[in-house]
Amino acid sequence: MQEWFVRARRDLPWRRTTDPYAIWISEVMLQQTQVATVIPYWERWMKLFPTVKALARSSESAVLKAWEGLGYYSRARNIHRAARMLVRDHCGVFPHDPDAIAGLPGIGPYTAGAIRSIAFNQPAAILDGNVTRVVSRLIAFDGDAQGKPGRKLLWATAQALVDAAKEKPHPCPPELAGSCSCLNQALMELGAMICKPSAPACCLCPVSDGCAGFQHGNPERFPRPKKRASSQRVRLRSVVFARCGRIFVGRRREGIINGGLWEFPTWGSAVRLCPGPENYPGYFLTNRIKARHLITIRHSITTHAIEIGFDVALLDQSTEFAKSLPSLEGDLGVRSDIWTQCRWLRLSDAAKLPFANAHAKALRALRGLESERGAQGETDVPLPIIWS
Ligand code: SF4
Repeated sequence: MQEWFVRARRDLPWRRTTDPYAIWISEVMLQQTQVATVIPYWERWMKLFPTVKALARSSESAVLKAWEGLGYYSRARNIHRAARMLVRDHCGVFPHDPDAIAGLPGIGPYTAGAIRSIAFNQPAAILDGNVTRVVSRLIAFDGDAQGKPGRKLLWATAQALVDAAKEKPHPCPPELAGSCSCLNQALMELGAMICKPSAPACCLCPVSDGCAGFQHGNPERFPRPKKRASSQRVRLRSVVFARCGRIFVGRRREGIINGGLWEFPTWGSAVRLCPGPENYPGYFLTNRIKARHLITIRHSITTHAIEIGFDVALLDQSTEFAKSLPSLEGDLGVRSDIWTQCRWLRLSDAAKLPFANAHAKALRALRGLESERGAQGETDVPLPIIWS
């Protein structure tokens, strides 16, 4: 399998190094995110924070901004906290000691195994979604791969594979730390490129001779498919309030989903989709505020299918607007206890802050609209007026 990996592997930027810091960042970014999406994020991150020390010195806001769009922001926060611990306890040098690695925030068994094997060539097992599938097929395991006995068996099998690689080292190119590194990366690559969930390309597989799932004749039945939890639909509506060239944004408090990130005022599913002003809270009617649709963003988080409609509401200078967080709640009916501060910002200043994913997309749409309208020289639409 290692020979196949050396010959056929994709040239990915984090595969050109054995720097444990660079490998750590790539492994965390790759969790639930596709390789093509991760590449530009990883490259930008390594330019912004080239070392553990550089990352530890940076503000949390800068770290969240660099992560903006990847989602699951607790991962970025954990990386930042871990970098500070590495500087405090290890002078910014990544430790080789398994317990020290496992003690860092956000580093679970998979990430620890990936760093230890890929950077230090230690015989540490890995088991992510792709490797779970490959290993299950190799041993024709048709049990529950997520249950405790199944996990135990699959981890033990992955460990036996990497132990065997350690016992029988084979020549690796210098950019690979050794045969354990090569074996684990081969398992990941095999899962990503050959042993796919459906229609695995067994005729191209370097281990088909020893694969029990293939010998069985129907490898796709391994492992047993997960039961899908039913998805819950959530509809939200956000409004970009704009006045005198500034937009109104708030920062979510720490300790909740997307804590520390910025967003626009958002209502729950009580507000109907695609509302006219009549469907907004009374504040809009009282103040004769017009809103126009900007963009609808759909995304999924675990079992929630979320749809957020963003509108832009133009306020003239005389319109009374919430002067404080509690009055924001009173006026608009949005929950203000989830914010710790709110501000009126120019678009260019708002773009420097880290926003929750959907809100970052709305902000980009707004900026795109602004430059488009500016290029066309239109003056009879409200947007260029508010940004002037
Ligand atoms: S032979 Fe087929 S099922 Fe077995 S590991 Fe290779 S691709 Fe997967």
